[in-house]
Amino acid sequence: MAVIPEKAAGLYIHIPFCMRKCRYCDFYSISDLSQTPRFLAALKREMQMNSGTPLVFDTLYIGGGTPSVMAPEAIGQIIETASRYFNIAADSEKTLEVNPGTVSLDNLSEYRKYGVNRLSIGVQSFDDKNLQFLGRLHTGSDARLSVEWARTAGFDNIGLDLIFGLPGQDKTNWLGDLSQACNLEPEHLSCYMLTCESGTPLDGDVKTGRVQLAPEGMVLDLFNTAIHFLTVRSFLHYEVSNFAHMAESNGEPRTSVHNLKYWSFVPYIGFGPSAHSFIEPERFWNHRSVTTYVRQIEAGKSAIAEKEILTKEQMIIEAIYLGFRTTRGIDLDGFKAKFNMSFSQIFERTIAELEARGMIKMSERHCALTRKGLLFLDSIASMFTSQDMS
Ligand code: SF4
Repeated sequence: MAVIPEKAAGLYIHIPFCMRKCRYCDFYSISDLSQTPRFLAALKREMQMNSGTPLVFDTLYIGGGTPSVMAPEAIGQIIETASRYFNIAADSEKTLEVNPGTVSLDNLSEYRKYGVNRLSIGVQSFDDKNLQFLGRLHTGSDARLSVEWARTAGFDNIGLDLIFGLPGQDKTNWLGDLSQACNLEPEHLSCYMLTCESGTPLDGDVKTGRVQLAPEGMVLDLFNTAIHFLTVRSFLHYEVSNFAHMAESNGEPRTSVHNLKYWSFVPYIGFGPSAHSFIEPERFWNHRSVTTYVRQIEAGKSAIAEKEILTKEQMIIEAIYLGFRTTRGIDLDGFKAKFNMSFSQIFERTIAELEARGMIKMSERHCALTRKGLLFLDSIASMFTSQDMS
């Protein structure tokens, strides 16, 4: 059995299909399911073409899109192919994203049989009105049933995704979603703020005035509500949107081992259309279009669309952004060891300004965003510019 290094890598597979496009979504996916057989063949070939890496992987994450539109046998083939061509630790975390309305007790049991040991379920809300607004296909009762079936199928590591900050949503409505989620006793909860991404139908409706986004103060209130509600129910708020339940057996948080890699400079490799990879200091990503992706692979060519080598300055900016996403914040000693410079000294002015505005908090060992700061992560991170380093 492979020895798992401290910073083992993550393997990501992107399944680019959804039954229908949700109103707010700008992830890459298409709804022409007739292309799944060619895609699956291309995906397996892409993995074969990239075999031989010395990396050891301790997570496999099949995301999308809606991976649960793929037959269980297809997911089985993906896991089998990944295990054949890559050094995947035997007890690795193997996550499958599934959506209510596309799963049954039978197919969840099959996924389990093929080696999936963690599910991430796209619940988003238990309120049918909210689900309709978001353009989701399922109902609140579909969502509850999916979790019940997942338990019956033997899954003991389940994450649920929720969305808050919908137009007109108040605290009572959001508390309803949070308490229904907690009643299902998930190991992990992701609470995403609804954002209006350019080019989505939601964006069009906001621009024409048909939809008014929730005011900033309300969104902040709902965010604080989630943190309070979940923290008192033994969830650890470990990343801006993510909460891990503390295991009853050993008190350890049930974090997403795979997603933690994205925030800590650990290498990851992605396969499938639009999948991103990072092996320090290089970042590369695949063609977005399924057609182009499949055509490239069928011609025996790489699916990579672009590559970039991060400069030291870019790595520093990235480290700041990623560090601020976690509630622990930037590890000041780790920063110094990695970049041979003091975070507190280089960014002294910006830190002082943000501290005065109540957006960040400094301790002896970490610099972290406050709750208020977490809501403005992108704009705060962009204040730490390379100019400060010159
Ligand atoms: S199911 Fe998920 S990936 Fe697919 S369109 Fe909806 S939000 Fe996007």
